[in-house]
Amino acid sequence: MKAYSTLKGVLDILQPEILLWNKIEEITRAVLQNFGYTELRIPIIESTELFIRGIGETSDIVSKEMYTFNDRAGRSISLRPEGTASLVRSYIEHGLNNTPQPWKYYYIGPMFRYERPQKGRFRQFYQIGAEFLGNAAPVADAEIISMIDTIFKALHLPDVTVEVNTTGCRLCRPLYRDALVGFFTSEASKTNMLCDDCKVRLVKNPLRVLDCKVPTCIELRKGAPLITEYVCDECREHDEAFKGFLNEIDIKYVENPEIVRGLDYYTKTAFEFTTEHLGAQKAVAAGGRYDNLVADFGGPKTPAVGFAIGVERLAELLRQRLDVYVCAPLIFFAVLGKEAQRMAFKLSTRYRQAGVYTEIGNALHTLKNQLKRADKMAARFVIIIGEEEINKNAVIFKDLVNHTQEEVPLEGVLGCIKGKQAAYNKQKINFS
Ligand SMILES: [Zn+2]
Ligand SMILES: [Zn+2]
Repeated sequence: MKAYSTLKGVLDILQPEILLWNKIEEITRAVLQNFGYTELRIPIIESTELFIRGIGETSDIVSKEMYTFNDRAGRSISLRPEGTASLVRSYIEHGLNNTPQPWKYYYIGPMFRYERPQKGRFRQFYQIGAEFLGNAAPVADAEIISMIDTIFKALHLPDVTVEVNTTGCRLCRPLYRDALVGFFTSEASKTNMLCDDCKVRLVKNPLRVLDCKVPTCIELRKGAPLITEYVCDECREHDEAFKGFLNEIDIKYVENPEIVRGLDYYTKTAFEFTTEHLGAQKAVAAGGRYDNLVADFGGPKTPAVGFAIGVERLAELLRQRLDVYVCAPLIFFAVLGKEAQRMAFKLSTRYRQAGVYTEIGNALHTLKNQLKRADKMAARFVIIIGEEEINKNAVIFKDLVNHTQEEVPLEGVLGCIKGKQAAYNKQKINFS
């Protein structure tokens, strides 16, 4: 028979990794909550048009990487390649601008892009993203940076650098765009040496040339004009104030004028959190300001700033560092015979409803094998029920940590556990 496997670039997340993922989510959610964010569950599928409008037709994401298909009624649908467009759509659709401020939302979930899979890059990948709407002030950008920094500190993420830039606005960016085109077209040889993608970018969206990872393109853009030389006074003042706030909270940043982000909607601040530990995929979080997107989508004029964190990359960085615990059963029933199984099933239901993690052994297995399994699962207590115990209306109560064993009347079991429960049902696991 054919052996099925996951699609290329798509992963199953199993034990023990999934425990690390759960931990990352738990810690991140707690920090987001402290900054006033609430979760907004956005759908995985949207109309293709939403992403074309939001991300930009010429972007790599829309032109090459989206999973797009027609539904049964012939409508063009896409799997979401990112979260911001959906979140903004939702904000407008539900009139959230009429609800009390602050408008701070986050999302967690899979995104889909048809890219060449490599280390740290997948076709289905998970993001934790957040958007702060309705605040045009530079302090909002700094608050976002501070929040990501707080998340990374809470996770004990090692050696992360934040790189910042300004991408200008609709007034000043066209000037820079022209300067950039002028630079690359000043000599025909220069234009010709650009990679094929960049030749197209130069016409459709020249800023993207700064994103190109092809070595010859990196070489060619040496000496290219920098956006910082072209931004208008308003953008410059915003940028200075933003960086001032970062200084205020001792966040060390690196200015990188090549961060333009791959999406059309960014204005003013853009940033990336990078690490040297992941090879070519350096960014663990990225984002920026997008003051026009809400209005472009037909909503009220609403400035906004947001970001997304890549969960796979975080998990990779944290494999050895984050203490993660697997839950072990507090009680394991070893059962001999059908009647014992019936009784264990009844008791375990009662214990589980009382919040106790309980497992039942397989009555078809020997007692020895069931005890072995209890041991492997690191159960704290084993309750053995056999024919003799049923007749006596009692159980054998084994403490696997203190190595004691006693016969306990049925109604005494819960009392037995209560005294010894403590916070045992956790066991540290190793990720090697
Ligand atoms: Zn400007
Ligand atoms: Zn290129």
